[in-house]
Amino acid sequence: MLSQHLIGTLLREPVVAGAAELDAIRALPNPPLVRLAPEDVFIRRCRLANDRIDSRYGRFRREQLPHLLELVQGAPVLIGHDRRTLGVARFFGGAVETRGDTAWVVPSFYWPRAHSGAEDLRVMIDSGVYSEASIAFVYRTPTCSVCGEDIRSCPHWPGREYDGATCFFYYDGVERVTEGSLVYRGATPGTGFELPDGGGDGRNALPSATEPGPTIRLKHRNRRYLAVLQPEQPASR
Ligand SMILES: [Zn+2]
Repeated sequence: MLSQHLIGTLLREPVVAGAAELDAIRALPNPPLVRLAPEDVFIRRCRLANDRIDSRYGRFRREQLPHLLELVQGAPVLIGHDRRTLGVARFFGGAVETRGDTAWVVPSFYWPRAHSGAEDLRVMIDSGVYSEASIAFVYRTPTCSVCGEDIRSCPHWPGREYDGATCFFYYDGVERVTEGSLVYRGATPGTGFELPDGGGDGRNALPSATEPGPTIRLKHRNRRYLAVLQPEQPASR
């Protein structure tokens, strides 16, 4: 009984879209054909790309990230880069945010609640089952970090050490973001999904993960669990 209640609290929809978010959706190229109301959409945020070296030894320049966020606007959210399918959601708005020593492109994305699979997608994201993201893009030049030339023709190899530094290449001349995907394992460590922020009025604010509520110990079928009690969200959220 108790675990049912805790699960219900975790997975209930805690946020609704704000006016600014809906305005940003309407400002997209090829905007929605109908006027969407806050209760018509789910919105989440995505840590989609950053300025660290990824698993392919490629890297975005930090000063390039605002342009990358521009290119993300209106791009589809796919599952596992499967371009034979249409998207499940669409990117809009967002910001470039610095967290620690890493700068992130963090667009928002929305999908319509009226879709038959909308609640399934929300629950899988909010429960952390879908937990990583990956950006697909087209760029012009892989620039070598050691010599500054095109790494396809210079003598250096990505991933090898030169004078104590690992060689990588910059994604220079990014021209297009084709899509961003929910993936089982992204090339960039730290990608993932977040609830929309409070938009300034705290309406969408959730209990912070760094400030957990009181914990209780549960015992269920002879196994012990530690559960965090989060306050009930008001029904208006
Ligand atoms: Zn080189």
